[in-house]
Formats: sequence, C-alpha cells, structure tokens
Amino acid sequence: MKQYIMSLDQGTTSSRCIIFDKQGNIRAKAQKEYTQIYPKPGWVEHNPKEIWSSQYSVMMEVLTQLSEGEEIAAIGITNQRETTIVWDRNTGEPISNAICWQCRRTADVIDDLRKNDPELCEHIREVTGLLPDPYFSASKIAWILDHVEGARERARAGELLFGTVDSWLIWNLTAGKIHVTDYTNASRTMLFDIHKLTWDERILSYFDIPASMLPQVRPSSCIYGYANFGTLGNNIPISGAAGDQQAALFGQCAFEKGEAKNTYGTGCFLLMNTGSESVSSKNGLLTTIGAGCESADNQSGPVQYALEGSVFIAGAAIQWLRDGIRIIEKAPETQAICESVEDTAGVYLVPAFSGLGAPYWNPHARGMMVGLTGGVTREHIIRATLESIAYQTMDVLEVMEKEAGVPIRELKVDGGASANDFLMQFQSDLLGGNVLRPVCIETTALGAAYLAGLTVGYWKDKQEIRDNWLLQKQFTPLIGDDLRRERIQGWKKAVEATLFFAGEND
Ligand code: ADP
Repeated sequence: MKQYIMSLDQGTTSSRCIIFDKQGNIRAKAQKEYTQIYPKPGWVEHNPKEIWSSQYSVMMEVLTQLSEGEEIAAIGITNQRETTIVWDRNTGEPISNAICWQCRRTADVIDDLRKNDPELCEHIREVTGLLPDPYFSASKIAWILDHVEGARERARAGELLFGTVDSWLIWNLTAGKIHVTDYTNASRTMLFDIHKLTWDERILSYFDIPASMLPQVRPSSCIYGYANFGTLGNNIPISGAAGDQQAALFGQCAFEKGEAKNTYGTGCFLLMNTGSESVSSKNGLLTTIGAGCESADNQSGPVQYALEGSVFIAGAAIQWLRDGIRIIEKAPETQAICESVEDTAGVYLVPAFSGLGAPYWNPHARGMMVGLTGGVTREHIIRATLESIAYQTMDVLEVMEKEAGVPIRELKVDGGASANDFLMQFQSDLLGGNVLRPVCIETTALGAAYLAGLTVGYWKDKQEIRDNWLLQKQFTPLIGDDLRRERIQGWKKAVEATLFFAGEND
C-alpha cells in the first residue's frame, strides 16, 4: 500500500486539498474559491457552511483521484487564522457568518479598550504576545455575542461553541464530536496565555466570553480525532493542525532559532523562529507560538515561539487590480506587465485598504496613490502595486532584524504571489539580500502535512523532513545602494502621507 498525507489548506480566498508523498511531492491537488462577503466598507465575512462545503468538495475531488493500492495515512489541517465562527453545540449550526481576520468592524471596541484600560492592554501584550487589535478573534466573538439575538444568553447557558477555522473543520470532520484547537491557532485569539498555555480569565471576563465556548487546546502535532469517508477511507487520523503562517514556517523547515520565512498570500506574513524563549517586541511585532510539536521535539519544551510581522494587503492588492479596478485579467500576467516598464515613473501605491499592520499599526489608514503625472500608465500603476508588497515586507523585516539582533540576509519565500519573478527580484533588490524560493511553494499545506505525518511516524524526525527542502530559484540583488536608498525614501514619504491622511480623518 502506498501511503500519503492529506493536507487541508483552508485559506482566505479558497479551500485547497493537497496530497503529499514522503519526498514532499504533490500527488494530487484541488482548489475551490468561495464567496467573499462585504456587508459594509471594511467588513469581511465568510459563510461557515461554504467554508466546510468547499473544503469537503476539494477533499472528495482529491480522494477520488487515488488509485487502488494508495491510501491516506493521516490528515493535517492549516487554516486562515483569527477568523471567528460561533455555532450551536447541539445542532452544529453557525449562528452567524464567520467574521474574517481582515474585518475591521470592531475597530471602535478596540479603540475604547486602548483609551480606557491601558493596564489591560499591557496585560494582553504580556500574556498573549499580541497588541490589542480588531484583527484577532476576541473582539469578533464579543461582536457576535452582542449582535446576534439571544447569543449572550445562549453562550452563558453553554449552548454555543467558538472556534477558529481549524476547530470548525475538525468539528465537522469528526461529525460534531471533537471541539479542539492547536497552540498556534489559540495564540491568535488574543485570549490565550502563550507562556502558561491556558486561556486567560481576565481577558475572557473583559469581553464577557464564557470559558465553556472555548475549544480544548492541544499540540500542533497530535491525534485530534479520526475522519471517515466511507469507501474512500475510514478511521484516518487527523494528526496535525497549525495556523497558516506557523504551518508555512514549519513547511519551510525553519526549525531553528533565527530561521525566517515570508509568505506572499492575500496578506504577507513574515515569521522568525525564536526558539523556546518568547521575544517580546517593542516595535509593533507580535510574539506568537510556532508549531507546538510534542512528538517530534520534546527537548525544547512543548512549544517554540516566533516573532511575526504582518502586512494585511499583499496579494489582495493584485486581486483589487483584477476585481476592483479591473485593469488585469489574471494575477500571473502582472509579471510581464511590470517587466515591460523601467520603473513606476515615480508612482507609489500604499495599499492600506484595511489599515496598516506592522510596524505602523494604524487601523484607520486607507490606501493612497501618490506621484501621479500625465505620463503615468496602467503598467506603472500595476508595477507600483506589486512593488508595494515588497516595500511593506521590507518595513517588517527591518524591525525584525532590530529586535532579534541578527540581520536576516536570506529570506525563504512561499505563497501564491511568490511565483511572481518580478516581485521576488524586486524584493531581493530592496533587501540587498538573497531571496530563496523552494521547489514546493505550497509550504503552508506541506507544513500541515509534516505535522500530521510526524505524529503517525510517516516521517521519522525533522531531519528527514529537512532533506525534502529543495531550492527552485535564488534571486540576488541587481541594483546598487544609491538607487535602493532613493526608492526606499520615496516609499517612506508615501507611508507618511497615508498616515497623515488617516490622522486628518479621525
Ligand atoms: P491565500 O492562502 O491567502 O488565499 P495564496 O497563497 O493562495 O493566498 O495566494 C493567492 C494570492 O496570490 C492572490 O491574492 C493572488 O492575487 C496572488 N497571486 C497568485 N499568483 C500570482 C502571480 N503569479 N503573481 C502575483 N500574484 C499572484
């Protein structure tokens, strides 16, 4: 019997299912986009049932591709993080749409918290490693409890469950039997003490969230339950789960302190492994839990920590070019378009569509384009949009290097937009360092597969996994220091203008 690991990758814009073999090669793969719901400016929702049905359909599509003599040894899950779902414990019915991580509807709630209770803000920073922000699950759960009729009473009566998407998928995969999450996902709720590894009562009480709603928190690599697919396979262990960014860090084999990766998806996420000690940031980075992997690494304690900087809008800016202002048809065509012009003709685009993340943390900022002249063409605007992804990454990397005290000279990359050679070259030019793209850029899904496979002994240890990491292409800087400095200066001015405009609007 030839065995594989099945990875469920529930992303912000699509659900994917990928089957990997022992070398990390893809045996089969399916993907389905699902509906993005924008009820108001700045609000983003998903239908939890569509999350599950799209995930289920790609799972079935992939499973039916397996031949006689092939089977799934284990299932790993990775997911968009922070996205909040509340459902009925008895019926399994969600009580509202999922509030997506991008959604800013609770910005005022968090503003109030910041203004009125600086001491609690400090407590949140210390215990959760996060800066109070609408991005995390806590205020989203409270919003659902406050706005869905009868929800607070039902929550107090123990009738409701909360989960991030991993919990929701495991709940559905186990026919409503198992309500769990893993350390990495728990660490993004703004309710979890990342040092004691328990839910924090003080924060729960501030948001009036009953502990009975919360999932049990388990390591990222352990058996959560078993899935049954009838003739397509039964009693398959669900044995790995991690939030998408931590899964990508694991999939990039960044197992050691100081190793870093950047994922270019809908958002950009830069994570650096800081080992068994948590590094507290003074410059707006988050401290978070990397994969907690008991089975494979019991020397370094139950969890590894990571520093994280996020850029909210990265690939999403390319989607905006496609679906919003409709000046491209498909994301990949941007590569040739960007290469068709020398530069952006002085245009900078700051895609702060839903606020600015690290290191600026301004939820009120909105996008801005500066430097327009009559000579600016569609190509320049497209190029400025792509470049903005690299500039935002550079901003985060600068802070990370400062905090960790080590320069990151090499950046491992993955995610949908890392396929874009122009973007990767521009990134290398800006950083003045190498950008390394592995053969498999489905690193997020691969990381979840690794976590699941380690639990069941499909892979022996981390070294065996490390041997799978293969370089596809290395990008080295092609511009000089003067040009680099000049471009960066322009970007910094454009960000200042954006922040100024946000301030004027307060
Ligand atoms: P997520 O997991 O957040 O849904 P993915 O890793 O699948 O994201 O990446 C999808 C994003 O990458 C989309 O926003 C899309 O616009 C962008 N993208 C995909 N292919 C390319 C490409 N060749 N060039 C630039 N951007 C791309």
